[in-house]
Amino acid sequence: MPRAISARRPQAKPKLGQHFLASQEWAGRIVDALGDTSESTVLEIGPGRGILTSLLVPRTRRLIAVEIDRVLAAQLRLKFGMARNIEIIEADILAIDFDSLFGLKPGLGRPGIEIKPDPAKVVGNLPYYITSDILLRLFEYSKYFETIVIMVQREVADRVAAAPGSRDYGLLSATAQLYARVEKLFTLPPGAFSPPPKVHSTVLRLTMEPRQQELDVAGDGFIDFLRLSFGQKRKTLWNNLKTKYVEPRLKQALAEAHVVPAARAETLSLEESAAIYRALRSSAQGS
Ligand code: SAM
Repeated sequence: MPRAISARRPQAKPKLGQHFLASQEWAGRIVDALGDTSESTVLEIGPGRGILTSLLVPRTRRLIAVEIDRVLAAQLRLKFGMARNIEIIEADILAIDFDSLFGLKPGLGRPGIEIKPDPAKVVGNLPYYITSDILLRLFEYSKYFETIVIMVQREVADRVAAAPGSRDYGLLSATAQLYARVEKLFTLPPGAFSPPPKVHSTVLRLTMEPRQQELDVAGDGFIDFLRLSFGQKRKTLWNNLKTKYVEPRLKQALAEAHVVPAARAETLSLEESAAIYRALRSSAQGS
């Protein structure tokens, strides 16, 4: 057994967002929020010292744990080496190829037959320095995921779950709610972690229910449109959108969607944003 890896607890690395959960009770509540995982594949982001991992291994069909820190990944391999249902991948979660991990698999030795794996569940006490990047990446590959239970900084959770018109509503809220039903489950104080972070942390559950088909906005264009709508926070929708669209076309699209030009993106429901986008799209097709 390599002593350097197993004997000592390495110092937490703040740069990697290493605030380790120090309470079995909270860990249990997080894992419980995933529901029954006995028939599921679970992707754990940033297992760290393995407090969630230890609870997941005995109750999950297949566990894939992705940890960027070499020493922690090696310690996890030692700790869980005997378990046959866990793969520990030492990698940056933002660089993982989800298509090869969760995409179609050749079918049981039969040429030409491919098996589509069931969507996976995702869990993690996220490294806060890349929370938004991780969320956006999970949404990009949403077809592979069913339920996501993640711990994020409380203020980020408020933004993800915010309703249109509220102070916290913005691009992150609109994007998250386009892909998923969002629930804020519970909030943990800094003292639940070692070392304690400066902020409170909230556990979110995202149940993937993509709305693109229903809103008739499939494809990447709508996300780009939302990004443009929210472009500059203090600007009106009109001023943000006119950086791309000519005025008569924009005026007509807003009228068709029954939205006044002085509105701000922060006040619009997804239905209203989608109506403007569809009107602009059809006027482009017509021109
Ligand atoms: N799950 C553990 C817990 O609850 O105690 C650790 C949580 S700690 C907040 C975040 C973990 O994510 C750390 O172990 C850190 O090394 C890891 N991490 C940071 N950046 C990462 C990345 N880009 N990809 C994968 N893991 C990362």
